[in-house]
Amino acid sequence: MSLINKPKVFYKPNSPNAMKLGTRFIKNLSERGIVVIVWLAVFAAASVFSLSCTRFKYNKSTSPDNGGPSHASAKPELFLPKPGDITSAKSGDVFKPWDEKDIVVTKFIKLTDSLGGSYESIGKSSTSPRSSYSKPWDIVLFKYGNPTKPAILVDAHMHGNEFHGYEVLYTIIKWLLSGNDDYAKNILENNYILVIPCLNYRWSRGNFNIDPRMTVTGPSDLEKNGVNLNRNFGPRHDSTFLDKDSYGGKFPDSENESKALISAWEKYHPKVYWNLHQGAVPYTSCTASTPVQLIIANKIKDIYGTIQGKLGVDSVNMATFRISNHFSTGLAVSGASSMGSVGFLTEVYKSWRNYDDIRSSLNNGLQYKQYKALFIASCLMIQE
Ligand SMILES: [Zn+2]
Repeated sequence: MSLINKPKVFYKPNSPNAMKLGTRFIKNLSERGIVVIVWLAVFAAASVFSLSCTRFKYNKSTSPDNGGPSHASAKPELFLPKPGDITSAKSGDVFKPWDEKDIVVTKFIKLTDSLGGSYESIGKSSTSPRSSYSKPWDIVLFKYGNPTKPAILVDAHMHGNEFHGYEVLYTIIKWLLSGNDDYAKNILENNYILVIPCLNYRWSRGNFNIDPRMTVTGPSDLEKNGVNLNRNFGPRHDSTFLDKDSYGGKFPDSENESKALISAWEKYHPKVYWNLHQGAVPYTSCTASTPVQLIIANKIKDIYGTIQGKLGVDSVNMATFRISNHFSTGLAVSGASSMGSVGFLTEVYKSWRNYDDIRSSLNNGLQYKQYKALFIASCLMIQE
């Protein structure tokens, strides 16, 4: 047999005598069928060892996210803006949030410490030598639910001047952690929920990787626009539009904020990535570039209307949801889809204002119900 004819594969002898002995030994074993048994035993032992390692890994990461306050010892060291560190918005009611941006992450930390979950830094923010954005703050990811179950990742403030998405997101997570209804209980048990409430600390669409030829300034912090973060991703990156608000950067994924988000995709492999924006007529555009992603996207679309109805949205006001299998230039949803996630981009509200009626719609009115329904539909349809 080939095993006997090629003894060097199994045994490297030091002398001709040893070679003879080794060859004879293998021949004897082979004739009795023992070689097969030995290989089966080795394979079984390796499998058991591998399984026990996997189980140990899950046990290690389960405890902080499955309800109950986080353990003090599990809290990471974070460098965050303090109130007053981020001076920003124009005067008046445009680009003027209800929660100032330098308290957004600490507000999520307070919620998480009191109702359960954990958090970690996924990277450092971009900086500018010319303004108050001179320190690299931690970009923070919050984690809730069951780490062994299918994940959804939601971010807000990718465009740093868009604060409406954060309002919806905070209220959805507060509802989820309160766990007072069947949807919330189901999701906490059967999903892993990942949240980045502030991806971009700057009050602009971009950050500070500024090409000296650029002339366009950000809409509120009066720095040059730099790289529009939602044009910075692959696979269809474009480095032209230099003087424009949609400048995508010199190369894909060049910005600290982009790298931080990608590191979270790589670490947690979310089945759905949900990217919140504002300023256009509300809609959700879903990027699903593979057959598996299209199946998930269509399942979510099918149930979305039903859940909106259950939450009290009438048929006239149901939010739109459209599916595409194409990548768009530089968008984060395209980057996420190219890495395995179904990507959602939602325009939450067509306004830049901070009127009371807008906030109440985002916190408990029509917009809240529409996007809470999308969150629920997504979580349920990615469960296994
Ligand atoms: Zn935007």
